[in-house]
Amino acid sequence: MLTEPLQSWKVCKELANNFYEKQRGAKSEGKTIVWGGASIPCDIIRAMDIVPILGEPYGALCTAHQLSEELMATTEEYGFGRSFCAYSRNFVGSVLKNKGPLGEMPEPDFIMGTKSGCNDHITWFEILARIKNKPYIAIDAPMLYEEPGPHHLKYLEDQLTEFLESLEKMLGRKADEEKFVEFIKLSQQAGELWTEVLEFCQKVPAPLNFKSQLSLMMPAVSLKGTKEAVDFYHMLLDELEERVKKGIAAVPEEKVRLLWDNIPMWYYMQIFNYVEQKGAVVVVSPYVLGFGGGNLAQAGISPEAEALVAQSEPTSIQEAIREVAKEYLRSSLRHNLPAKTRQFSQIVRDYSVDGCLIHSNAGCKNLSCARLDLVRSVEQDTGVPCMVFQASNADPRDFNEEDTLAKVDRFLDELMESKAAS
Ligand code: SF4
Repeated sequence: MLTEPLQSWKVCKELANNFYEKQRGAKSEGKTIVWGGASIPCDIIRAMDIVPILGEPYGALCTAHQLSEELMATTEEYGFGRSFCAYSRNFVGSVLKNKGPLGEMPEPDFIMGTKSGCNDHITWFEILARIKNKPYIAIDAPMLYEEPGPHHLKYLEDQLTEFLESLEKMLGRKADEEKFVEFIKLSQQAGELWTEVLEFCQKVPAPLNFKSQLSLMMPAVSLKGTKEAVDFYHMLLDELEERVKKGIAAVPEEKVRLLWDNIPMWYYMQIFNYVEQKGAVVVVSPYVLGFGGGNLAQAGISPEAEALVAQSEPTSIQEAIREVAKEYLRSSLRHNLPAKTRQFSQIVRDYSVDGCLIHSNAGCKNLSCARLDLVRSVEQDTGVPCMVFQASNADPRDFNEEDTLAKVDRFLDELMESKAAS
């Protein structure tokens, strides 16, 4: 198969470098800085001219730079248990040790948490606010044990409205309506475009692998609400269209197509090269899809819930806030088990998946709970086999290389055999 490096890759790297450069220069420019998790509403924050520093991408960066064992030892000495979020143990360790891949972290003016993923998120930043002695703001978000309903939407809208009022009070200025609406529209567009990018991987062969998707999702996560993110995804879509037309694949050989569940092991990204050398390509992951505008046809929710959370164009601050609340409810990362199993099965079909690698992640219990139930349902529904293995997104001590690769070998051999026989 024809393959060649992605041209947009260089631009994505520049965007990431500029993002970190801007963070470093923010203090000297007199900007207000907030520390928070990746699910804080960056679009609202940027609309108020505040610079966000995000915990999860930073935790991933520490891990990819092989700093995590040292940083986590510091956090654990401070009193965090090993069952706590692995990203947070990297981030807090970096703060306590004043050491990290980007040098000193810019001092925050305030710190915030959201309960949009799990409770660890709230605790992580609340503790940091105590360590740094800074004001702390929390946004509560309902866990979706049931389908998204009007009461969830109203609750989130109220939380976000209150959040905006707190920012206005703290900054001593009101939000500019035109600017505010524009930031939210840009955020919506980037989310939609990111979903379109991923949908290109339904093509056989896939023009992008999961490893590239993880890097290319940076603008959708860290540059939410910016024109740079929208422009970048337009450029990437053009390039993908060309690649598909010319039959350019992500890797030279695509014998079997895989789904990856959960966050990867950032300290062991070579697992993707390992499976690719055997002719297996990870083409999709509900994890990266969860950061897009969301393909509601895959979401596994009822038509009523779909109608409730469907995107529309805002014209006022209140409408823009409602759109941010809808986005929280739309993300499959927050949906309940029945919706998730329907979503997984739909993705398996839409992306012509032959097998699923399910990472039972000790570093993120939120994205790992009920995986055995999920696997059983997906296997029954689609006939596609799943392999569950234990590791952690950001704690290498929870990963056994030899055992995992042996398991992967067996799984891929069986997949290849059954594909050859069919
Ligand atoms: S445990 Fe998972 S969902 Fe919770 S804060 Fe950590 S990475 Fe986010």
